[in-house]
Amino acid sequence: MHKGNECRFCDSPLKHTLVDLGMSPLCESYLTAEQLNHMEPFYPLHVYVCEKCFLAQLEEYVSPQEIFSEYAYFSSYADSWLQHVKNYTDVMVDRFKINEKNFIVELASNDGYLLQYFVEKGIPVLGVEPAGNVAKIAVEKGVPTLVDFFGEKLARNMVVEGKGADLLIGNNVLAQVPDINDFVKGMKILLKPSGVITMEFPHLMRLMDENQFDTIYHEHFSYFSLISVEKIFAFHGLKVFDVEELHTHGGSLRIYACHHEDPAKDDCVKVKEIRDRELAAGFDRMDYYNSFSEKVKETKRTLLSFLINAKKEGKSIVGYGAPGKGNTLLNYCGIRRDFIDYTVDRNPYKHGKFTPGTHIPIFPPDKIRKTRPDYVFILPWNFKDEIMQQMSDIRSWGGKFIVPIPEVKVYE
Ligand SMILES: [Zn+2]
Repeated sequence: MHKGNECRFCDSPLKHTLVDLGMSPLCESYLTAEQLNHMEPFYPLHVYVCEKCFLAQLEEYVSPQEIFSEYAYFSSYADSWLQHVKNYTDVMVDRFKINEKNFIVELASNDGYLLQYFVEKGIPVLGVEPAGNVAKIAVEKGVPTLVDFFGEKLARNMVVEGKGADLLIGNNVLAQVPDINDFVKGMKILLKPSGVITMEFPHLMRLMDENQFDTIYHEHFSYFSLISVEKIFAFHGLKVFDVEELHTHGGSLRIYACHHEDPAKDDCVKVKEIRDRELAAGFDRMDYYNSFSEKVKETKRTLLSFLINAKKEGKSIVGYGAPGKGNTLLNYCGIRRDFIDYTVDRNPYKHGKFTPGTHIPIFPPDKIRKTRPDYVFILPWNFKDEIMQQMSDIRSWGGKFIVPIPEVKVYE
């Protein structure tokens, strides 16, 4: 499984560290009370940058089968995310004239959170999702779903069965693919001659500019700039013809790609604009990447100083949310029940469980109104506006919100 320290795209040896977050457990392996006294596997969370293709990446310490076969992340538990994907389906139908004669495939279709809106419009869809537990929910919603890992082999089988895609969607999946060449090659095979691929992924530029080191976790094998994605796609005969910047997940890119030989799609100016911005920032030079580590250490020190002072003043602090990113932050900073009494989450799957590594108990959100803490520490900071609105009544007892990223900030 562990292939040695080589670039997963171009096979060059990986010598340059982007950031080393030490040892961490898998961020979605929530523990039951019985598991608290057992050993927990911890793996290195060490991100490298390839000096040849500039792909930022973790080594593959854990197989995707271990991570994704039973997955606790259900996309449908965030309202703003559902709104985001619903808008997307409207825009796609409009822009690419998609109708009931077309076929749409989504890779890592989760619980059908997105495809359900195409189903509503009467457009045939197929989801591909390796986690059986979330795929089951999609099927119950009326979203046909294949439980499998996507790659060249599956793509060939799908084409034989007449399941080539006019629109091929992948949201927050490219980062989670250990064998990126097999995956992108599969997309090339599955895409019909005039089809369109759209993919969304967190933008490495935003991760680095805004200190979002907590979006690094074992499930995310790769961290993309536009220039690195363009290289990978070009290698497989695909071209990126448009790109949008999105607010989701702390700042993402949505790329639009087609077959290299597709004459109908012209390059949009936005592709050149973002590419130029990355080059101006230094995304093709190692010295730019080398500056990130120190910024991350400083963020940890500032956050811990704040928490230590708050505890010295006798304040109570609880968490809001138990997302994957929260677990990277808590483990890297060493924040356990000595700082945070408990956390809450809307996902019932997590209730009664404990955060991996740091063992903070997880309750339903209502618990906050019963215990009236001084501070609510928002772990999924990308949803901070939505959460502060939902929990605005904490102000009635003088409660305040803490947002840890890009640097610790208190909202009254
Ligand atoms: Zn490389």
